[in-house]
Amino acid sequence: MLESYEASLDAGLTTNKEIRRFKIAINTACPLRCEYCFIDKDSGEVVPWAVVQSLVRFMLSSPGQVKKLLIYGGEPFLKFELVREVALFARSEAVKAGKDLDLSICTSAALPLKVGWLEFLAEQRFFLSVSMDGDEETHDKRRVDTAGKGSWKRMLPNLPLVFDTIGKRRAMAIQCVHPDNVEKMLSNFQTLVGLGFENVEVEVIHGFEWVNKKHLFRPMMQKVLDWAWAEAQEGRFRFVVCSLVPLMLKEGILLEDMCPFHSSMECYPDGKYSFYPFAFVDWEGRKRSAVGGAVDGVAERWRHCSFDKDSDTCKNCTSEYYRNPMVNEGNDPYRWRTEMARAFMDKVALAARSDARMKDYLREAVIRCRIS
Ligand code: SF4
Repeated sequence: MLESYEASLDAGLTTNKEIRRFKIAINTACPLRCEYCFIDKDSGEVVPWAVVQSLVRFMLSSPGQVKKLLIYGGEPFLKFELVREVALFARSEAVKAGKDLDLSICTSAALPLKVGWLEFLAEQRFFLSVSMDGDEETHDKRRVDTAGKGSWKRMLPNLPLVFDTIGKRRAMAIQCVHPDNVEKMLSNFQTLVGLGFENVEVEVIHGFEWVNKKHLFRPMMQKVLDWAWAEAQEGRFRFVVCSLVPLMLKEGILLEDMCPFHSSMECYPDGKYSFYPFAFVDWEGRKRSAVGGAVDGVAERWRHCSFDKDSDTCKNCTSEYYRNPMVNEGNDPYRWRTEMARAFMDKVALAARSDARMKDYLREAVIRCRIS
């Protein structure tokens, strides 16, 4: 245990930069072999407890009142006892640190989810995200099991259980948009709503060729947003990119856009830290590009910097980090998605001043936004 704040900062085990959310992949095993996931599912890695302790304390040491710990895998439900221990530990540390903690878990829902697991998550006020791309054809094209069989049908029995136990406000689908399915963005969004999801996070797949399909992204995203608007006018809540709602605050937008500590921190079972979205692009490259780790501390370069949007250090912070050109595939659609969703929420906020339905929508958004 290091004695002073300064010593801990020097060692990279405490940070002076706000971390709003931190993703931890607790294991690598998964029943699926989705085409766009590069985690080595056969490596058998499970996060050591020392990494969990150090990461949780690192996150809670950062400025800012609200923190979100997102539990990923592999498939984290394969290690549910560890999920339980991580949640209870993080909760107790957050109480000691005087911080508000949100917990979230992401699953492929390709294994039968036990009611007892979901009840624990509900008690701990977890948000739960299901990776589900849309209709059966879209989903099964890339989300396959070890035998190459699509996983859509085996997920279905889990959905009512999730909605009944976790509740629709805290459940979300992650709709991965790939260059091959961008034309179906609206119909896939509607399929997910039809299955019971009210919160959908439109996610852009990186690492695949977007060049011939990029032009379709914005018109399709606009159709999704227009549909969500029309639904809201009928009193039905559908949320498109929930993670952006808190970023309507100006400072949040700046931090989100520029400082990778704010929303892009990830940790893998080997205890190494990375910035989003390495695991989904290049597993070996991620290892080479680690930005320190939970046990040895964040890398020297990022120990003492502090955010200044006008400084060259911050402007160039990640320019050498994303060296794999495949990481950059998808950057434009990702940026457009984010800009358009922000503009949508600005429009909602403006309308909410005089439109009671949009006021309701905004109120719901503020509750559900903590989901991402
Ligand atoms: S250099 Fe600036 S943008 Fe990068 S981590 Fe440090 S404070 Fe954040």
